[in-house]
Amino acid sequence: MKNDTTYRLPTLLLLAAGLFFLPENLPAQQVPCLFDSLYPPQRLERAEKRIRAKLAENASGQTARSNDDSVRIIPVVVHVIQNGGTENISYAQIESQIRILNEDYGKLPGTPGDGNGVDTGVRFCLAKKDPQGRCTNGVVRLRTPLTNHKPVERAMLKELSFWDNTRYLNMYVVKTIEGNVGGYASFPYTPPDEDGIVVRANLFGDEGTAAASGGRTTTHELGHWFGLYHTFNGGCGQDTCAHGDFVCDTPPVANPNFTCNLNANSCSNDNPNLTDQVRNYMDYTPDACKNLFTQGQKERIQATLDTVRTLIWSPDNLLATGCDSAYQPPAICSVAADFVTLTPTVCTGNSAYFIDRSLNGATSWQWLFPGGNPSSSTAQNPTVAYDTVGVYDVTLIVANAEGTDTLTLAGYLEVTEPGIGDPLPFIRNFDDGQYPPEGITVYNPDAQIAWELDSLAAKTAPYSMRINNLDNTNYGTLDWLELPFLDLSSAHPDSTLRMTFWWAYARSDANFSDELIVQLSKDCGFTYVPIFSKSGNALVTGPTQTTPFIPDSTQWKKAVINLNTYRDERYVKIRIVNVTDGGNNLYVDDLNIGDGSDGNPTAVTPPPAGDPFPNLRLTPDRAGGRLLLWANVARQLTFEAVLFDAAGRAVRTWQNEVLEAGSPAAVLPVGDLTGGMYFLRIENEGGAGTVKVAW
Ligand SMILES: [Zn+2]
Repeated sequence: MKNDTTYRLPTLLLLAAGLFFLPENLPAQQVPCLFDSLYPPQRLERAEKRIRAKLAENASGQTARSNDDSVRIIPVVVHVIQNGGTENISYAQIESQIRILNEDYGKLPGTPGDGNGVDTGVRFCLAKKDPQGRCTNGVVRLRTPLTNHKPVERAMLKELSFWDNTRYLNMYVVKTIEGNVGGYASFPYTPPDEDGIVVRANLFGDEGTAAASGGRTTTHELGHWFGLYHTFNGGCGQDTCAHGDFVCDTPPVANPNFTCNLNANSCSNDNPNLTDQVRNYMDYTPDACKNLFTQGQKERIQATLDTVRTLIWSPDNLLATGCDSAYQPPAICSVAADFVTLTPTVCTGNSAYFIDRSLNGATSWQWLFPGGNPSSSTAQNPTVAYDTVGVYDVTLIVANAEGTDTLTLAGYLEVTEPGIGDPLPFIRNFDDGQYPPEGITVYNPDAQIAWELDSLAAKTAPYSMRINNLDNTNYGTLDWLELPFLDLSSAHPDSTLRMTFWWAYARSDANFSDELIVQLSKDCGFTYVPIFSKSGNALVTGPTQTTPFIPDSTQWKKAVINLNTYRDERYVKIRIVNVTDGGNNLYVDDLNIGDGSDGNPTAVTPPPAGDPFPNLRLTPDRAGGRLLLWANVARQLTFEAVLFDAAGRAVRTWQNEVLEAGSPAAVLPVGDLTGGMYFLRIENEGGAGTVKVAW
């Protein structure tokens, strides 16, 4: 897997696109914010259009809402993703963060947020009611190693805990973010499973573990959530209004400022020529330096609230979340049972990890797991094994000094049989143009650039599979082709069981490289081991180039993966994974598992030792609508056969056929078969073989 300790900023790509200027000398271990990596301009178009349309409407005098004095309150839920360490921050620390947000967004007099900016008209409220209307202090705590967070797994945070994002601002507190990142936020109009902000525990608030912080990482990240860019995005640009951060009253800035140098003036194309606004929350200066949003930024924030995030601050929603000023919360919120598992479906013999996320401070837990082992538990976060196929209820009874609460989720856990996978061979050359390819699932967890069918280059024309890393700025993201469950025990016992395919790849820059990994799971897809991994020079088949790589016929390499270790496995899942690093096109073609032809669909199967079908050949009799099977057999043999098309689909099957000691040895009627390349796999108790034929 990728050994990636720093999260690389997309400097080169964005420079090439002429859109952003980022520093070449970022401190190696510091990345304050991931906004520029996660949200390239093309992802922001939809929000940008809406925000600009609203701003234009406001400017034309049609509405005045953005500039009035009303205050909009945003209900907040804080999900503390912790693993028992100091990242399980106190409620007081969480409250300190909310206080800082209100100081900063409200420019409250006498606070550090009372700088030379404006009151944005936005305030924050820790929710007093959860989505079901239950009393809450607005904090959900749950224990998981995922507290060491990788941005590529951000959708998983939302699977752990997520409140309706049209009604709550979801904030996640984690111990670490891969690459020593401080935090990141979603932009308006990103998918719900990305919506929210993630901040490191020691930067959240200014008390407890964040005593050394000013709590302004969250102020900054929320700026993105409201539709603000970095003040340095776009560099100096051409026009201080229409370029950069699209805000007129923030002077252009060439690069992020990391120090509070009030005389910094990195751009001189503005008139009058103003210094960099190092006190703006949307720069990278230290917390103690930052103290302002501008009127232009306020107008963008308000435009977002008027177009994309319209329900969250509505009076009805404030009532529903307990954030209206008249709401009187009870003295004590009763404990409320809640739990989650990330694996609601398991195969027999596997375990599920149940995570308590009850509200309001449970102090004891009683779990009931009918069908599980153990069948009950008093642990807060138990692991339970399931050995029998079925659908099972899960019950959690929680208690504290004030009371108890019970939650039963009927049929929450499904246990399935490991089953038997599809027989080999598994052959796909993608040339039928089907997308996704027959039997293959295309996974694209970040809903951005995915594996696609490609006709510009192929090992065998017309099609290959390709993923466009050149335009993929979501670094570290995994995209994969998932094969169906396969029965590897169906391989010929005397053959070497191999997975083969051809790939082609070039870099866009010598300093970084995408990665190609093949992973295999023999436990129903819960855990995977890498069986093939290439990056850097080992992956390269063509010259480094900043234009899209289109390989010629000589720029392909063949992967040969020995699967003999797994040949007894009857339910194996294999996936072909691309880990993007903003490199260049990666192609895969002519995938072949276990047909004995070593992955070359044009090669006839060499007869293995003890082959029951020596010198097997197949010839077409198109006029007769039949295939003629030839083999040097000394006596009658029965066999079964399957005819696969070029995409690997079974198109005809035969059972109890007889191979004679004659010429031909057998005749297989196929009727009006469509023209193309076919593979016949024949098999009996003595072994198996595959032959090809052009029809
Ligand atoms: Zn940022």
